[in-house]
Amino acid sequence: MNDPHSTYVTPPFAGIATFGRQLHTQDLKGVDVAIVGVPYDSATSYRSGTRFGPRAIREQSLLLWGYNNALQVAPFEKLKVIDYGDVDVVPVDILETFAAVEREIDALLIAGCRVITLGGDHSIALPLLRAHRRKYGPLAVAHFDAHPDTWDEEFPGRKFSHGTPFRRAIEEDLIDTDAYIQIGIRGSTPSAHDYGDARRLGARMVTLDEALTLGTDGVLAEIRRRVGQRPLYLSFDIDVVDPAFAPGTGTPEVGGFTSVQILQLVRGLVGLNLIGADLVEVSPPFDAQGITAILAANLAFEFLSLMAKHKSA
Ligand code: MN
Ligand code: MN
Repeated sequence: MNDPHSTYVTPPFAGIATFGRQLHTQDLKGVDVAIVGVPYDSATSYRSGTRFGPRAIREQSLLLWGYNNALQVAPFEKLKVIDYGDVDVVPVDILETFAAVEREIDALLIAGCRVITLGGDHSIALPLLRAHRRKYGPLAVAHFDAHPDTWDEEFPGRKFSHGTPFRRAIEEDLIDTDAYIQIGIRGSTPSAHDYGDARRLGARMVTLDEALTLGTDGVLAEIRRRVGQRPLYLSFDIDVVDPAFAPGTGTPEVGGFTSVQILQLVRGLVGLNLIGADLVEVSPPFDAQGITAILAANLAFEFLSLMAKHKSA
């Protein structure tokens, strides 16, 4: 059980679902990467349901056999990976939830682990960025999303929602905006100001249209130009992918990347020093046959593969 090599004994559909069939433990001795769920969705503004994301992603991660043929690495062998379980969120209290996320992630980072977080809505990026900032200083951030998430207030007087985390993060100096890049932004907005605001705050915005013009290699060159060799935090909103490939999300925007395009973009980050990642906005109630969760599980596996490649480089 929980041993990725034991699938010939225990088939993948048996047992309790942990990410990649890795050990569920909170013993951090020797751990390289902790997979952590944050099942919080009370900061969504449209369709909720991402509180069920971590479970669905774990469920669909059971068929990750372990070897990444594209990057030629076996992340579960190169790294000691655990499924840490979920943060105890408070569904009716965003500030308490943020505090709980910061407490847990701080402890993991102090213990020397890297963290890959399964969301949850995108509001949780703020406490995740706070914790990583405390360890690494102002962060280089690659932010994959259909939306800039840089609104000041999504509802009057409310500073925290899944539409505002990156404005708050910039205000709090969590992000070094010289090393901040958004990829895949598209869709309708209330006004032209939305994109303008993100750019005025310092984001390098690669819209979906620009990404198609640049091509995969061009986008990757732009990310590398922006980030350099700095430690990189990856914030990944599943709605960057076209809803035809990832329908299970709260605020779908048509015309996004295909599954294979996004896999190529993520794999193209190989060589960069990925120090943490979140994968958010997977909403199983709107999914179809688990395809969004399957993609999310595979993307988290790619994030692990990037960490493993960097460790062995
Ligand atoms: Mn989004
Ligand atoms: Mn987002």
